[in-house]
Amino acid sequence: MGVKDGFNRTIDYVRIGVTDRCNLRCFYCMPEHGIPYEPRAELLSYEEIVRLLDVLGRLGFTKVRFTGGEPFLRKDFITLLEKSHALSYYRDIRITTNGTLMVKHIEKLRELGIQTINLSLDTLDPERFKQITRRDDFNKVMEAFHTLLENGFYLKINAVVMNGINTGDILPLVALAEQHPVSIRFIEEMPFNGGYKKNEAVFKAGDILNTIRQTYPGIREKTGKHGDTSTNYAIDGFQGDVGIIPAFSRTFCNTCNRLRITPKGEIKTCLYDGGVFSIRDFMRSGVSDQDLAEKFKELIRLKPKDGFEAEQGKQQSTVRKESMSTIGG
Ligand code: SAM
Ligand code: SF4
Repeated sequence: MGVKDGFNRTIDYVRIGVTDRCNLRCFYCMPEHGIPYEPRAELLSYEEIVRLLDVLGRLGFTKVRFTGGEPFLRKDFITLLEKSHALSYYRDIRITTNGTLMVKHIEKLRELGIQTINLSLDTLDPERFKQITRRDDFNKVMEAFHTLLENGFYLKINAVVMNGINTGDILPLVALAEQHPVSIRFIEEMPFNGGYKKNEAVFKAGDILNTIRQTYPGIREKTGKHGDTSTNYAIDGFQGDVGIIPAFSRTFCNTCNRLRITPKGEIKTCLYDGGVFSIRDFMRSGVSDQDLAEKFKELIRLKPKDGFEAEQGKQQSTVRKESMSTIGG
């Protein structure tokens, strides 16, 4: 079901940023110092998140992703997962995580029927990991990687490709999909880094594919699924597969099925808009569930055609100051 937008796309997938805080400092996402974290009271409470999920579930949303910041950093995140699971609309609960804080929760995640985890890992080189994330936690991420696999989770590895920084990591990361049944997804770097640096020449989807093709000339495109942002590829003899997400080029908008809710309750109908409505303030003004449902429908109807149209609606300078940790990447 879901809700149709003005371009006949069905929106049935919500991504919720549960916190703007993080224990890493990936330079493409956040500045190292001086991050103005939101005070707790500004964030949506778990009760508020569950209420919004309930309203969206009644509208036919079936998929939810929890992200951040680092979702496992927020106190009692497992409680939020339990409450979301109990709603029963969401058979497909997903999490995007840096993996550093999750190993002790893996058993519980399994109990909650969570099957897929998106784990962020931009390099297999511990030194480069430290350079990118500004923290020395490579071993923790690899521990999460292996423990998740041993426990039967399906892993999608998110790797941001940064021109001149980790393009040499593309092939070692591709090799992970040869050895393990995982999906390695290379993401074009986007300009949401909290204003730390301007991304200059982006290493685009075509560059990534060419890099892989030079070593694997037989790489072939797979048929896509509804709402896929990645173009996926198979390579003969591989247990897993490879995906490329043109997040900067934005060539996937015509099949977009997403709505975003930021940690402080801003609705984003596109990753590239500046936040179109505070559902938190609306909810805190005492409105009914019916009012919330109508508001969601109205906002979805106005969803922009694509990320370029969304970006036009706001100042370029604002885009550069935004961070994926506050957007809920
Ligand atoms: N902390 C968690 C993590 O790292 O997986 C979840 C939040 S993080 C913002 C979500 C995803 O956004 C990660 O896979 C991260 O690599 C990606 N991301 C962050 N900044 C980005 C940027 N400037 N361009 C492209 N992807 C970015
Ligand atoms: Fe933290 Fe994820 Fe951003 Fe890295 S990408 S700083 S792990 S929120």
